[in-house]
Amino acid sequence: MAAKTIFKRIIDKEIAAQIVYEDEHCLAFRDINPQAPIHVLVIPRKEIPSLAHATEDDTVLLGQLLAAVRVIADQMKLANGYRVIINCGPDGGQTVDHLHVHLLGGRRLDWPPG
Ligand code: AMP
Repeated sequence: MAAKTIFKRIIDKEIAAQIVYEDEHCLAFRDINPQAPIHVLVIPRKEIPSLAHATEDDTVLLGQLLAAVRVIADQMKLANGYRVIINCGPDGGQTVDHLHVHLLGGRRLDWPPG
């Protein structure tokens, strides 16, 4: 069996994380290496390696992830805006093989990204 990803270990409470939100489908915690004053990762409890691995069966779950982002952004008082990013695969800069959505805010973010 493939080794658990670090995010699966967070879901299973084997390693600690600063959890800011959780529900039946998703878990959200602060990024260990924040790129903005607010940097939260929202992950599905279901193990999906990347967005490219999501199937039609995951369509509702993908919406639930974004709905969770919106709730967390409200919770974090990001009324001035924020950015939502999903890195996918090597060219997308994905480093953890468990689908995750980055929520970044609390400062003005540049565009285009590097
Ligand atoms: P990505 O490059 O899109 O795969 O993002 C992975 C993110 O996970 C990076 O921003 C890391 O800083 C973050 N990360 C890695 N390990 C942990 C951890 N144990 N707790 C919180 N964030 C983590």
